[in-house]
Amino acid sequence: MTLLNLRDVHAGYGRVEALHGIDLSLDEGSIVALLGANGAGKTTLLRAISRAVRTTGQLLYAGIDISSHSTARVSRAGVGHVPQGRGTFNALTVEENLRLGMLARPKALRAESAADLDRIYATFPVLQEFRHRPAAALSGGQAQMLAIGRAVLARPRLLLVDEPSLGLAPLTTINLFDQFRQLREEWSLTILLAEQNAKLSLAVADRAVVLARGAIALDERADQLTLHDLQSSYLGTADDSAQPHDGDEATP
Ligand code: ATP
Repeated sequence: MTLLNLRDVHAGYGRVEALHGIDLSLDEGSIVALLGANGAGKTTLLRAISRAVRTTGQLLYAGIDISSHSTARVSRAGVGHVPQGRGTFNALTVEENLRLGMLARPKALRAESAADLDRIYATFPVLQEFRHRPAAALSGGQAQMLAIGRAVLARPRLLLVDEPSLGLAPLTTINLFDQFRQLREEWSLTILLAEQNAKLSLAVADRAVVLARGAIALDERADQLTLHDLQSSYLGTADDSAQPHDGDEATP
């Protein structure tokens, strides 16, 4: 089943258009890596789905037209968003942050809150260990786990994750990415993962969509993608500043 269907989506900031007619559909239960260089439009596409940026075009989520929904309404409908910078509250404890996530869940699922919190602690034991510490005391990797845990506890159907590897050490990123498939199975999630780290994203994704200069340059099954495909999609439509960085092992 198609969970999200975008047709001719344009989005931008003021007079600047950052997305120029995106067609994209996500199958329920899939993990899709949204790749692309700096400024390609990944964050804007996630914001467009969350209705946090000016957008035109058709956006269907679970068959419902969400193009005139507010961000809060889209979130209530089951779209979770882990933004770049994570959006957790530094002054609150780890557990308070997680409980805030549970406040956003549908009423019908409130009874499962305690069990769900335990499930998140089982996935990320360090969060349980540090549950009474302020979020500000967490390392980057732990803070990212907290942001993801909090979003999952709202019980979304579609989880948008914006560059979770940003600022994390390589080993921390690998450990974090290992959790995405487990999270998908355990919580019946569909995940759209915006990343510059193509290598790690492709290892967990079913499909990869490459954005270049605000348009889709490639849309392919992750296991069918070659490094050559990926490089051409980055290079074919992007200018020099949008190419993968030399020597950056996070890019192909
Ligand atoms: P990055 O990996 O650096 O986050 P990205 O692929 O997520 O890049 P976007 O952040 O979506 O790219 O940016 C797409 C385009 O929109 C860029 O040209 C960027 O300069 C522009 N842009 C992004 N945010 C704003 C903003 N708040 N105001 C104006 N232009 C913006």
